[in-house]
Amino acid sequence: MNIPFSPPYIDDAVVNEVVDTLRSGWITTGPKTKALEDEIQALCGAGAVLCVNSWTSGAILVLRWLGVKPGDEVIVPAYTYCATALAVLHAGATPVMVDSNEDFTISVEAVRKAITPRTKAILPVDIAGFPCDYEAIMRLVQDAGIRAMFQAESPVQEKLGRILVLSDAAHSLGAYAKEGVLTGCETDVVVFSLHAVKNVTTAEGGAICLNLPEPFDNGDLYKDLRLQSLNCQTKDAFTKTKAGGWRYDIVGFGMKVNMADVNAAVGLAQIRQYDKLLKRRIEVFHVYNKAFSDCDWVICPPFESEGKRSSCHIYALRVRGIDEEQRDRMIDYISRQGVAVNVHFIPMPMLSFFKGLGYRIEDYPQAYRNYCCEISLPIYPQLTDEQAEYVARVVKEAYTVVVKQA
Ligand SMILES: *Cc1c(COP(=O)(O)O)cnc(C)c1O
Repeated sequence: MNIPFSPPYIDDAVVNEVVDTLRSGWITTGPKTKALEDEIQALCGAGAVLCVNSWTSGAILVLRWLGVKPGDEVIVPAYTYCATALAVLHAGATPVMVDSNEDFTISVEAVRKAITPRTKAILPVDIAGFPCDYEAIMRLVQDAGIRAMFQAESPVQEKLGRILVLSDAAHSLGAYAKEGVLTGCETDVVVFSLHAVKNVTTAEGGAICLNLPEPFDNGDLYKDLRLQSLNCQTKDAFTKTKAGGWRYDIVGFGMKVNMADVNAAVGLAQIRQYDKLLKRRIEVFHVYNKAFSDCDWVICPPFESEGKRSSCHIYALRVRGIDEEQRDRMIDYISRQGVAVNVHFIPMPMLSFFKGLGYRIEDYPQAYRNYCCEISLPIYPQLTDEQAEYVARVVKEAYTVVVKQA
């Protein structure tokens, strides 16, 4: 049996929506992008939602708006995809890496210790779709002592008067951040990724959810960031195609990171059926949990606790007590049986570029422990129970061959 890792969900509804866009005569930012923004906002309840061409560019856009500059610090977990820290570097600030908890979420205690007067933002990551402890993180940035340490150095920072919390929800669309609260509205700014492997995709894309407190106006901020995402050009291409609409101005130093309608169409058709798609992901997650229920050597990924619930983006299985070399040999065995698996993630301090910047994995022991025994199994709505059971059987065989019989 050949089982791919994470094929996109492309059904007739997706194809028809894309064809409709192609035939409409308008393929870049316009009505479909707006419709997708409205769907995401309706799903998660954010103050406003702006779609852009990736999570990465969305995060850079927000950090530039915040006004970070060289010497400023943004706290990120060491255990995440590299984009989390690269966005900080692109915006001109320094990523300060901290360790994670056993459940993959950022350690709030480690965040507290890492805060300095130069800290401008915290960027927690919902690894595998399981939300971080946002109540504790929001309490931390609102703490009187932490606020007193904060040094505002831009108009936006003055207005906020504290550290910004920008969450990396690349994996967690549709997850519950707390009882009855979906991800998208739990922090100041939440950015979803709509990349090809994510739960809902536009091939490449991202969605910025705005929930800034008073005196910010999230509707105004949406307009401002939308302008920033289109070179700060006062008239977008859609408006300029109308007769007589030729004159425009450039009113600032923006970026060019808008989402195209032809991309938005893919996500639009998917998000309209996301209830069904997410339900099926959760079912697959439980097929795995059940298959491994008799294996004391398996640590199943976190799903639900204290009102939080995962979006089941990744089935991050961990094998108790194995080292990196045994994990790699298990993956070789599993791959030879036709099952594509992955590792989420190689902690950033283990990657050449970040090593070169001086980060050391020894400083993040829990990130290393989570990584060295982790194997991500295929999980997506198209996966059948039989396929998931086959994957679980192959993982058990791999354990027997590599660990038990060794
Ligand atoms: C996919 C991913 C990103 C980057 O998303 P893009 O849309 O490809 O820029 C960021 N953070 C995490 C945790 C991711 O998995």
